Amino acid sequence: MDTPSQSASAPANPIADDDDFAKSIAYGERALNLLKQLRTSAKPRNYELFYCFTKGANQEFCDALRRAIQKDSRLTEEAAERLYHAYLADKDVTSRVSAVGSQFGDEMDDIMSLISSASEKAGAYGESLQGLNEKLPTIRSPQQLKEMLTELFESTKEMAELNKTLERRLVESKAQIDELHMKLELTRLENFTDELTGLTTRKRFDQILDLEMQQAEETGEPLSLLLIDIDNFKSFNDAHGHQTGDQVLRLVGHTLKTNVKGRDWAARYGGEEFVVLLPKTSLRAAVTVAQQFRVAVKTKELVKKSTNASLGHVTLSIGVTCYRKGESALEFIDRADNLLYAAKEAGRDNVQADAEAPKTHAA
Ligand code: GH3
Ligand code: MG
Ligand code: MG
Repeated sequence: MDTPSQSASAPANPIADDDDFAKSIAYGERALNLLKQLRTSAKPRNYELFYCFTKGANQEFCDALRRAIQKDSRLTEEAAERLYHAYLADKDVTSRVSAVGSQFGDEMDDIMSLISSASEKAGAYGESLQGLNEKLPTIRSPQQLKEMLTELFESTKEMAELNKTLERRLVESKAQIDELHMKLELTRLENFTDELTGLTTRKRFDQILDLEMQQAEETGEPLSLLLIDIDNFKSFNDAHGHQTGDQVLRLVGHTLKTNVKGRDWAARYGGEEFVVLLPKTSLRAAVTVAQQFRVAVKTKELVKKSTNASLGHVTLSIGVTCYRKGESALEFIDRADNLLYAAKEAGRDNVQADAEAPKTHAA
């Protein structure tokens, strides 16, 4: 299977491309080839999925699409729907997207009216040539011939100017459309990924949570949630500065990202709070994952980049809970929040889970 041309999670900047047009055509062709190879219907939604995939602007999306394809050896309609809603159909950007869409429409209307006026003028030019052709046999003097040639010259000049205007306008439109396209891309990417940690944003996580809850309702399979908070982070910031604090957030983000697999989702939920969603995962297994995170982070020695001085360690408190049929997202998250609070109360560097599962504590 084709792989995306870029693997970096940061969005590519289309402005930096010298040959953006050629690239977009190449992405489009590869997207169509993938649709054919994977026997996926070429509806606009699926085309968009594969276009974004071949462009490779968002690593997390590409990985999720690849996993979906590997699972069924093709992209099922159900998987396409899920991926589209998780990554491309951000409800909160709908208004921005439709604003860009209407700008596209206006631009196309302008071009269409320019083309129709050009075609009217080309018709009139044709008629004037026809008229001159009919006049030709009646010409009797050099003066008459001169007049006719002047008339021919004038209308040809007018036509050439019109063609030039049309060409210039089309070039401008192409630039305008490229810019609008880029705005759409950036809007999506901004909403997908937290700038500091590279994790999923809360906004998108909330959408994913809804979808996964629906799935759990339908299949009856367990869905576990981890709410994670860095311990005493305020003191850490106070002691070492905000920028070093940001480094720690990146480190925790990276640890979560590299430790979640398959269908799991890790997101930055707030300042120094993170959330991990584990579909098809029992409470007991989720507690094991939480303990792995806790240990992975506390065993990392933090080093100040600028001076190489050791900054010690940070620890995590984690609340772990499992989805209960019929409950709302708010209830689900609230329960995780209460367990997180219990983990803080229990002395921090600690994991607390629903009562149904064995409670686990820091060693
Ligand atoms: P606790 O163990 O109870 O969680 O204590 P805490 O100090 O971590 O909790 P508190 O909620 O009092 O403080 C959270 C701190 O996280 C406040 C702020 O200094 C820091 N913080 C939040 N967002 C960011 C961020 O984006 N960058 C940095 N560097 N710090 C942040
Ligand atoms: Mg907090
Ligand atoms: Mg904290």
